[in-house]
Amino acid sequence: MKEKICAAVLLLLTISAFAQEFTRADTLRGSITPERAWFDVTYYDLKVAVNPSEKTIEGSNTISYKILEPNEVMQIDLQAPMNIDKIIQNEKEISFTSEGNAHFLKLQKKQHEGNEEKLTIYFSGKPIVARRPPWDGGFTWTKDSNGKDFIATSNEGIGSSVWWPLKDHPSDEPDNGITISVTAPKDLMDVSNGRLKEVIENKNTKTWVWQVVNPINAYGVDINIGDYVHWSEKYKGEKGMLDMDYYVLRENEAKAKEQFKQAPMMMEAFEHWFGPYPFYEDGYKLIEAPYLGMEHQSSVTYGNKFENGYLGRDLSDTGWGLKFDFIIIHESGHEWFANSITNKDVADMWIHEGFTNYSENLYLDYYFGKKASSEYVIGTRKKIMNQSPIIGQYNVDNSGSGDMYYKGGNMLHMIRQLIEDDEKWRQILRGLNKEFYHQTVTTKQIEDYISEKSGIDLSEFFDQYLRTVMVPKLQYSIDGKNLKFRYVDIVKNFDMPLIALINGKEEWIYPTSEWKTKTLSSPILNFQIKEDFYVNSEEKN
Ligand SMILES: [Zn+2]
Repeated sequence: MKEKICAAVLLLLTISAFAQEFTRADTLRGSITPERAWFDVTYYDLKVAVNPSEKTIEGSNTISYKILEPNEVMQIDLQAPMNIDKIIQNEKEISFTSEGNAHFLKLQKKQHEGNEEKLTIYFSGKPIVARRPPWDGGFTWTKDSNGKDFIATSNEGIGSSVWWPLKDHPSDEPDNGITISVTAPKDLMDVSNGRLKEVIENKNTKTWVWQVVNPINAYGVDINIGDYVHWSEKYKGEKGMLDMDYYVLRENEAKAKEQFKQAPMMMEAFEHWFGPYPFYEDGYKLIEAPYLGMEHQSSVTYGNKFENGYLGRDLSDTGWGLKFDFIIIHESGHEWFANSITNKDVADMWIHEGFTNYSENLYLDYYFGKKASSEYVIGTRKKIMNQSPIIGQYNVDNSGSGDMYYKGGNMLHMIRQLIEDDEKWRQILRGLNKEFYHQTVTTKQIEDYISEKSGIDLSEFFDQYLRTVMVPKLQYSIDGKNLKFRYVDIVKNFDMPLIALINGKEEWIYPTSEWKTKTLSSPILNFQIKEDFYVNSEEKN
């Protein structure tokens, strides 16, 4: 009896660990509410003055939008303790009600379908300080070794609405981009996304005006203020000349000039595998920040201490992880997967992290060969937890499990094996970046595209690895020349073929949930599954 109770309690604990509870606030943040659905943001004109001594900011955001269907209530997000001071449309002040971090604007002007309108939100406050950037997010206020302010934003999980008011849902990117004007103390510089258009001299401050002309995911918008030194180079890429610009603290210039040589190397490898860098018009920038790093669009931030690996460590324990600077490679890989191709709902964030994790091994493949890349991706497999599925819950701002990284990478590595044609696989990766260029997408669109272009129906394969925590297990038995095998721990109709090493020779086998027998020409002395496949195996006697 006692044992039974324990088991029941354990089961309950297990269930509650899976069944996260979501609140109304999660729905307001993570779903396309009726107050969000009716308008499509076309442009943000964001102005922010940063006051380091008070750790406060104030500014305005003019939101241009297209009316998809008439509605006079608009949801805008801004998180406490930031405050909306006033909202103006056509010179008239607009009233609003608030429910937590969601604010519902009551527009006076009739909103006609097809029209374009704009309104300006004035805001101010002391934004949340990031405790553990970039993971929890907010503002980071630090000083460099000369005592000068070194300030940055990072807000992937928590959302941009932690410091500026916007439509904070990944499905809607401003089609024509953003202008971000940051006012900072005179002796410092702000580096944000896109290209520097203008520097305005004020009395004690300067305003740095940056412009992005492409759609941008909101969490990719950033502020980086410091005593930066700057250098640049032209990269001759697939779409012409690309401006690559680098900004680091004065004290790190020499180290950075050496380490950042990996940036053009990254560009060459990723253009080969994924196609042209997706933001030629906005340029590419690598900017030192006071935290590990983040894929801010066209302004990748860097804090990996100018050494190879992940803060000097090899995530794969194979040695290959020390052949590149993890942050330069990984965060820049996100320009293709996260910034150009963006998830519509964060539940599908594997599209960002799975492909970008996978990009690390493609970088290795490009410079060190296929064996190196395989060893790396297989080496990271021990980090897979299989506690909850990669795909999270929709419409509640739930991004699924951390397995989106290593399991995501291993899953893509397996597709490469299944396709058995590296050039075809490369064209699929490049094709994704053409088909879904500058778009927000669902996992279904990505899964269907890969199935269609590979000619392999991967529906059950994706279900298995993205939507369950089961690792397929091959059960087998050997009797002379006969190999008997089947899968267990699989979703219905899962039938991924495997490459087996039988007596040292590669042979495809085609397991399903039913026992099958393969008869070889000589007795089977040695059997194993090729390591590139992320499956378990068990010999049954
Ligand atoms: Zn990432």
